[in-house]
Amino acid sequence: MKCYLCGLEAQQSEGNQGGELVNCADCGTYKISGLVLKELGARKFDYPKMRDDLHRQRQFNATSVAEINTETAIWA
Ligand SMILES: [Zn+2]
Repeated sequence: MKCYLCGLEAQQSEGNQGGELVNCADCGTYKISGLVLKELGARKFDYPKMRDDLHRQRQFNATSVAEINTETAIWA
């Protein structure tokens, strides 16, 4: 698959609750929720801001995977 953020080749594994777990060499590992995946059909992420936020999430809580859900998604 292609990374939802940078568009480079990434690994994807089945997440829970309709979401996906993405492992991108460039963006790192992140969860993306099913609702956000649906919205992605019509909208695009603000890529630099979204990446900053994932970075912030990892600094804030290093033990959990950074997550893109309807609350954390930053749209362009
Ligand atoms: Zn990426």
